[in-house]
Amino acid sequence: MTEPLDLAGIGIGPFNLSIAALLDSPPHSQRPRLEARFFDRKPGFDWHPGMLLPGVRLQTSFLKDLVTGVAPQSPYSFLQFLVSQQRFYQFLAAELPAISRVEYGQYLSWAAAQLTSLHFDSQLETVDFDGGHFRLHFSDDRQPVAARHLCLGTGKPPWVPDCCRPHLGSDCFHAIGIANRTFNLRGKRVAIVGGGQSGAEVLQAILDEYWGRPAQINWLSRRSNFAPLDETPFTNEYFTPQYIAAFFDLPGAVKQRVVEEQKLASDGISPATLKAIYRRLYEGQVRGDLFRVRLMPGRELQGMARQGDTYRLAYRNRLDATQQQCEAEVVILATGFSQQLPAYLAPLRECLELNDSGQLILDQHFQVQWKNMATNRIYAVNAGRFSHGIAEPQMSLMCWRSATIINHLAGEEIFDTGQGTGMVDWRG
Ligand SMILES: Cc1cc2nc3c(=O)[nH]c(=O)nc-3n(C[C@H](O)[C@H](O)[C@H](O)COP(=O)(O)OP(=O)(O)OC[C@H]3O[C@@H](n4cnc5c(N)ncnc54)[C@H](O)[C@@H]3O)c2cc1C
Repeated sequence: MTEPLDLAGIGIGPFNLSIAALLDSPPHSQRPRLEARFFDRKPGFDWHPGMLLPGVRLQTSFLKDLVTGVAPQSPYSFLQFLVSQQRFYQFLAAELPAISRVEYGQYLSWAAAQLTSLHFDSQLETVDFDGGHFRLHFSDDRQPVAARHLCLGTGKPPWVPDCCRPHLGSDCFHAIGIANRTFNLRGKRVAIVGGGQSGAEVLQAILDEYWGRPAQINWLSRRSNFAPLDETPFTNEYFTPQYIAAFFDLPGAVKQRVVEEQKLASDGISPATLKAIYRRLYEGQVRGDLFRVRLMPGRELQGMARQGDTYRLAYRNRLDATQQQCEAEVVILATGFSQQLPAYLAPLRECLELNDSGQLILDQHFQVQWKNMATNRIYAVNAGRFSHGIAEPQMSLMCWRSATIINHLAGEEIFDTGQGTGMVDWRG
């Protein structure tokens, strides 16, 4: 067994990467450091490569990067990246309304390449607890890694509707890996299920004939329309530490209702994407060369069957309560992500406190409630939508959350997470 670490981070997506970057930034890097290592199963850092379709853009400001909100002096900020790439002036001249996900992914990879605490090719199989330390067991034959505290950052698995699960395969798949798939839509009917940003991005790529020219496109969404992401200033107040403070100690049922009400603040489609799709469809009509596109909001998928090469999708129209169906040879599921306990936590399961939905319970420091939390802490990122609010799965507050976790772990206010006064008085 190795010498115990202070912190083992499991998974290296942007969220644990932000913790690693802040641990290596002043003021933390100027004091006796917490010994931390982070592990990921991938061979190197790569941010959602399977969704890097042409032209896709970040939905958050580039200033909401790994570190800037709490440590603008950090060497891992987006501005440091721009300067290092000698693109600072051109970036300003370009006046981008939103930066591309390609560029943001390059920034994250640039930061990851400089951090010696990151370890790739490390697939965690299980974590157990020996009474004093956690022990991380990997899929290869290396020694288990010992750690006093953990931070869970393994993201969320794709969610697939039950009726689609038996059909998963080369012609029916979740959108998350679509950019890495080889398939051909030429002359086929395609159905996209899901009316969020991913569904919209897949539709754009299909309209641009990225996988060949299909015979027909069906786009189904449960929502009553193809609804925009609300990016207006008072809605952006939900993505502030002040709002989280107001939200955190509300009763569970109230939080649930509020999170549902605020869905479009985080899960809507970028207005720029909606405009681009609408204009593309309109220009197709003007030129008279548009293939058949059926846009179907307010449709709730209820069943799916296969006959030969054809899938039949059955759904309910929520506007007039009629049962309807369409056929397709290819079905793309832009159906989002689920919240499940990671399998590697199985040995600890009996010691974890879970809520009625079987989810981890987090305190305000993003600490998981479990039997030995007085001595050994488990933090979790991207696991607190119903405890901390809709900002949790987004990058908006990632560096503030990372600083909150580091301060709590260190037992002192190393990073200033002070909340100041927000624009809105939420609680009085
Ligand atoms: C296509 C897409 C675009 C998005 N765009 C935005 C945006 O513009 N703005 C915004 O605020 N949010 C956006 N989000 C939401 C969110 O910010 C991202 O999903 C973000 O990547 C979440 O980071 P994460 O660190 O929680 O998880 P992930 O990025 O999912 O990373 C989890 C990591 O854990 C690793 N892992 C999993 N299991 C194991 C294991 N057993 N052992 C070792 N490693 C493991 C995986 O390999 C992976 O690298 C987007 C999400 C998607 C899917």
